Amino acid sequence: MGLIVQKYGGTSVKNAERVMNVARRITDAYKAGNDVVVAVSAQGDTTDDLIEKANEINPRASKREMDMLLATGEQISIALLAMAIEKIGCPVISLTGWQAGMITDTHYSAARIKRIDTERLRSELDKRKIVIVAGFQGINKYDDITTLGRGGSDTSAVALAAALHADVCEIYTDVDGVYTTDPRICKTAYKLDEISYDEMLELASLGANVLHNRSVEMAKKYNVKLSVRSSLNNNEGTYVKEVKQVEKMLVRGVTRDNDVARISLCGVADTPGKAFSVFRMIAKNGISVDLIIQSIGNNNKKDISFTVTEGDLDKTLALLEENKEVIDYNEIKWTKDVSKVSIVGAGMVNNPGVAATMFEALYDARININMIATSEIKISVLVDRKDAERAVVAIHDKFLLD
Ligand code: ASP
Ligand code: MG
Repeated sequence: MGLIVQKYGGTSVKNAERVMNVARRITDAYKAGNDVVVAVSAQGDTTDDLIEKANEINPRASKREMDMLLATGEQISIALLAMAIEKIGCPVISLTGWQAGMITDTHYSAARIKRIDTERLRSELDKRKIVIVAGFQGINKYDDITTLGRGGSDTSAVALAAALHADVCEIYTDVDGVYTTDPRICKTAYKLDEISYDEMLELASLGANVLHNRSVEMAKKYNVKLSVRSSLNNNEGTYVKEVKQVEKMLVRGVTRDNDVARISLCGVADTPGKAFSVFRMIAKNGISVDLIIQSIGNNNKKDISFTVTEGDLDKTLALLEENKEVIDYNEIKWTKDVSKVSIVGAGMVNNPGVAATMFEALYDARININMIATSEIKISVLVDRKDAERAVVAIHDKFLLD
């Protein structure tokens, strides 16, 4: 018995039947003697539908008004879920983000939680009520509604768990846990029993769509034990927690990210300061660059290639074209037909053979590598989009089957 925070995603509450199913899970945990606080997402595709409605009227609507609109999705879920729990006969109350004391900064549509004023939450728990909190939303210092960015309900749940010192934060979704790679791409993928915060953070950032990466960051910071599991069965999920340094390096997962575009600046003068001027200009405009390579100079010219997200491509190209004289290059080439495939595992830096093994897997599958980046905990390669799924399978089976 203790305090449990649970989070249910949009697919877990997409219709009346699913809402009743979730209500039963919540009341079971409550009847077992636990205090239960639940963060819930908008039903099914509600958030996408609301965005579409906004676009019909004004595709350039202010972020403040978008937050006002999108926050309604979660408000529907909390009310319906509370009604379902009332029907089962347990004491319950639903709270919006602001009623729950979820205080954020003023960054509309991508707000960060600053603190949770837990008074109201505590007083409802003291009355032995199940508390249902709207995920994804909070309130800022102007008393305006904010949202935390797509997928942000995970972060709401972890923040609640941290603020209330919950024993565990259970993230319920429509998959059984965290897999070694996307099971839809790779039939041999399997569920991990546990994974460290750092590994999960990399997997989340590299395109594994299980957890909002900020929720993992926060779980690590406040040492919140996370359990990722299915709302549709009782299988043990995956625990995300501090895992003691293992001696043997283990590759834990393979990810694929299609949201990348590659830009090459060809024929840049081979003189000091060129890379600096290009990347400073890009950074100043708020664009993040991921993989980078620069060729060795030839005839006093060199090529610089890098990747950005697809969303930033047009903006980056426009910027580079505007500054053609200043940067001084011959030609820009770009493509969206690329994907980033990565492996994640703690301790890579001490295991020189890992990169070679990954490249061997790609060679065996006759897949060409465009770019490479390594860090302490991951190795990423850029491949042609058409090869990406085969690359995932080849790399997965090389490292993760034994
Ligand atoms: N409803 C929001 C979204 O779809 C937040 C969430 O589901 O976590 O992004
Ligand atoms: Mg989600």
